[in-house]
Amino acid sequence: MADAQLKDKPGQVNDPNKMARRAAFDPTVGNEKPQAYYNDIKAKFAEERDKRLAYRPKGLSQYTSDLTGELEKYETDPWAEEKIERDPIEDHVECLFIGGGFSALLTAARLRERGVESIRIVEKGSDVGGTWYWNRYPGAACDVSSYDYLPLLDELGYVPKSFFAKGPEIFAHCQAIAHKYDLYDLAIFQTTVTQTHWDEKEKLWRLSTDRGDKLTAKFVIVANGTLAKPKLTKVKGMESYEGHAFHSSRFDFDFCGYDLENLKDKRVGIIGTGATAVQIIPRLAKAAKSLHVFQRTPSAIDIRDDIPTDPQWAASLKPGWQKQRLDRHVLGTKPDLNKRKEIEAMDRALRTQRYENHNIEHQMRLHRRIEETVENAETAEKLKPWYMHRCKRPTYDDEYLPAFNIPTVHLVDTDGQGITEINERGPVFEGQEYPVDVLIYATGFEVQVTGIYNDIRGVDGLELNDKYKEGMRTVFGIHSAGYPNLFIMGGYQASFQFNLTFMLQTQGFHIAECIKYTRETGYATIDAKRDTEKWWVGEVIKYRGTTNRNKECTPGYYNFEGEDNRREDGNYNGGMWQYCQHLDESKGRYREYFDFQQ
Ligand code: NDP
Repeated sequence: MADAQLKDKPGQVNDPNKMARRAAFDPTVGNEKPQAYYNDIKAKFAEERDKRLAYRPKGLSQYTSDLTGELEKYETDPWAEEKIERDPIEDHVECLFIGGGFSALLTAARLRERGVESIRIVEKGSDVGGTWYWNRYPGAACDVSSYDYLPLLDELGYVPKSFFAKGPEIFAHCQAIAHKYDLYDLAIFQTTVTQTHWDEKEKLWRLSTDRGDKLTAKFVIVANGTLAKPKLTKVKGMESYEGHAFHSSRFDFDFCGYDLENLKDKRVGIIGTGATAVQIIPRLAKAAKSLHVFQRTPSAIDIRDDIPTDPQWAASLKPGWQKQRLDRHVLGTKPDLNKRKEIEAMDRALRTQRYENHNIEHQMRLHRRIEETVENAETAEKLKPWYMHRCKRPTYDDEYLPAFNIPTVHLVDTDGQGITEINERGPVFEGQEYPVDVLIYATGFEVQVTGIYNDIRGVDGLELNDKYKEGMRTVFGIHSAGYPNLFIMGGYQASFQFNLTFMLQTQGFHIAECIKYTRETGYATIDAKRDTEKWWVGEVIKYRGTTNRNKECTPGYYNFEGEDNRREDGNYNGGMWQYCQHLDESKGRYREYFDFQQ
């Protein structure tokens, strides 16, 4: 990697006007080491991946998200002050949201602006906020710039406290949005939608819930989030554990103390070292009598370097500042056509090789950071990630690596295997027992299953996931033919580049405009045309490339735990700018894209 690129440390910020910088690799710039150096590292990546694949049961079968019976406690809502007692509801609304996180809040606000008042939000939790309602573990924070991530800042007259907003601030912002747009009145909490079935005769959706509700709606917005259902790694004997255990998204502050003060005489264990664990571990490390970190694959940890918001800068912001900023950042991602031409003109093999080599240089910089920070050389070695950048979720934290210098913090590296047994006292690995008083599962979530907890059936009674068995088919990741008046937010085949909330706002605008158009033209339904669906699937496939990169990655939820997958079963990788362009182009031309029925 050229020197200039090396110095440009991703994640480092010193100017609130900037986006959080992330690694970008330029194949027109040469590499600095002989090719043999990169080949050796690539071989090591492959070896580490193969080792993990050999240990694991296939794909997702190593995990369970069926948290019933003995495992029910891992999904219980710790934030619900009391169970809301109410009679089942039977009513009809024009628009119904499944889920009360950012997707619903942003889109409901847009619908209200367009005069839609008959709205219901059905939410499993006891408040709005989705991800930020559930994930309250110590250290929770976003890792894109808060001035971009927190939506509607201008409208709410709010400037976040720091460059990377913390979880409680984001949750409070969700609540503030719900208050500002009077969305609380529309919500029913502690309620899970279990069935969403299309009634072709009446041209409406019939929904059932776990509270016995019988709801109908003209339009349904599936807003249940991408990583909503906690999952646990299946480990022999896990039910026999007699200490206290919980999942990271149900963090037990009653047990640990609000400032973790109750942990000072507790031995704590945490399973997993993904993005969540990277944020929790430094806080547990300081608070607990001892901490054992059970690692299967290390995360790649880059510089965070958070800064508090400069009050002078905040005071200087003019109305419309956030929109201008977002426009600038999204337009900033507009492909530089000259650069693109230069890249396209390159020999394909050379281009791929340079990309990979830059990627390796980036990962080796993170290795050096570990060596410089972690005092025990053996521990440092075990904390090194051996895979390409973005094979797993990149993480940004300045306290994670130093935590391993605290004498009471112990890394139990399982060399890719994962802990294989838990007994009544704690995890066991290679015959050694690690007794702990508290065991935290930071083992992630079921990923982007459309209709989590829910059975969605369209015109022919076909369940949506069954339709997708033939390969995902959507328009913009939002509409799927045969599911009229149904809109899916935050799912596959949409763009996830830049910033999730920006994408959700973009989708929210589109959905609100589609609903407005359907209402104003007096149609009963809007549905994706099969041809449009075919076109969009083609676009998704085109930008998902033809390399084996996904397969070459170490297993994780980004690559379906190493399972083969079809190219269309993933995100649209044409870029956020281009995704927005496509949505914009459809406006005013809805009849070309969609079928409308009276
Ligand atoms: P992940 O799925 O990323 O991580 C699960 C972890 O559990 C992995 O480290 C996995 O290891 C490990 N694991 C599974 N089984 C075992 C076992 N038997 N023994 C030891 N370890 C095991 O879940 P997270 O909750 O960390 O993150 C999920 C996602 O949530 C993130 O990727 C991100 O999208 C989002 N998130 C975002 C944040 C933000 O924006 N700031 C913060 C936190 C989360 P292995 O890697 O080997 O599979």
